[in-house]
Amino acid sequence: MGIEEDSLEYHQQDPPGKIEMSTTKSTSTQHDLSLAYSPGVAAPCEAIAAATDESYSYTAKGNLVGVVSNGSAVLGLGDIGAQASKPVMEGKGVLFKRFADIDVFDIELDQTKSEDIIKSVQAMEPTFGGINLEDISSPKCFEIEERLRESMDIPVFHDDQHGTAIISGAALLNAAALVEKDISDMRIVFSGAGASAIATARFYISLGAKKENIVMCDSSGIITRARVDHDDSLNEFKEEFARDVPDGELADAMKGTDVFVGLSVGGIVSQAMVRSMADDPIIFAMANPDPEIGYEEAKAARDDTVIMATGRSDDPNQVNNVLGFPFIFRGALDVRATEINEEMKVAAAESLAKLARRDVPDAVVKAYGDRPLQFGPEYLIPKPVDPRVLFEVAPAVARAAETSGVARRHLDSNTYVEELEA
Ligand code: NAP
Ligand code: MG
Repeated sequence: MGIEEDSLEYHQQDPPGKIEMSTTKSTSTQHDLSLAYSPGVAAPCEAIAAATDESYSYTAKGNLVGVVSNGSAVLGLGDIGAQASKPVMEGKGVLFKRFADIDVFDIELDQTKSEDIIKSVQAMEPTFGGINLEDISSPKCFEIEERLRESMDIPVFHDDQHGTAIISGAALLNAAALVEKDISDMRIVFSGAGASAIATARFYISLGAKKENIVMCDSSGIITRARVDHDDSLNEFKEEFARDVPDGELADAMKGTDVFVGLSVGGIVSQAMVRSMADDPIIFAMANPDPEIGYEEAKAARDDTVIMATGRSDDPNQVNNVLGFPFIFRGALDVRATEINEEMKVAAAESLAKLARRDVPDAVVKAYGDRPLQFGPEYLIPKPVDPRVLFEVAPAVARAAETSGVARRHLDSNTYVEELEA
């Protein structure tokens, strides 16, 4: 059977879908039920009415994330609508639960206007400890997230933007160390100027890259000042990275650069383009399912070190968001953070980079077919099934929330790791 048939069968096994609700308190006696619901439930209601933050003590809010989509940019499937996006959002819930024991309500909104989505999500604030926006198309996703972050007191995080930024950012930190280059000196070319590329370029600046060293290309080539002046269709987010250089193609932009970041479409980078890059180039070809250039093809293009990452699980260095969002939300929820800010994202990337430099437990090596995993060009970032990721990233994010002043609760860092292990 092919994966499609397999997956349809997997999803339709009784009960259909992948998730269900379960209760966490005893419900066996009449007394239990009168505590869970009327009349006993009035007491926690009154406590919360008197002090809103008591909702974290008396309800599931603090471990509940809303995965919210309108189905406008789903996987590689495009704008398939809210209903058709539900399997993906349920699946995101599965990953939150599996990797960080976070519960999820998946919310599919039948709405296209930014204003409507913003209002819907704002109205759901009492329900959730955090909001993961998912698969909402660019450029609307930027405004929606920004407005929600400003107006809401719980974390709002668009994973398609920041997930890739953080995981590939961790890979960049380690790649830079391996080729002994300073991120602030690196010339970086982006192929793609959508949700993930814009967010990743912004995040690399947080990691030390210089904006003037970044060139971004969309489907029409280099985003230049001249293009911005002549083409009204270039949105403000592309404009943010417009450069005062001559118009040209991706191939022109890649000449002499240290880093290529592909968040566009498969197969558009040739070996000749790889050869035109600076010494020991770093190539993150992350288009799914097919990268801008294949792993082996890029490696074979030149004799010096080519540091390569893709989105594929069959290549080394898979950039996969599951290495980020479960653990980032875990840390954010546990300190009852009001947002996931830049400091917390940088802390996540740095902790992932640091963990990759340590020896890998045998169980993790075995899970990946006994191919040795040791820090180097073939192993830049940890594997998601490595249990240490939770114990490193969540505390790093929680600490960053505290030091940047967005935590509502203090955690003792010694007991916190023990609690996570339990
Ligand atoms: P998006 O918002 O739709 O953006 C796609 C961008 O690619 C657009 O800016 C588009 O240009 C550009 N593009 C299309 N054809 C191009 C070409 N021939 N040359 C240069 N640029 C081209 O999509 P997204 O969410 O950012 O995702 C982009 C890609 O990255 C997808 O393949 C996605 O699967 C992949 N991705 C991978 C990961 C990972 O972890 N591995 C994570 C996120 C995304 P225009 O603006 O001119 O249309
Ligand atoms: Mg997504």
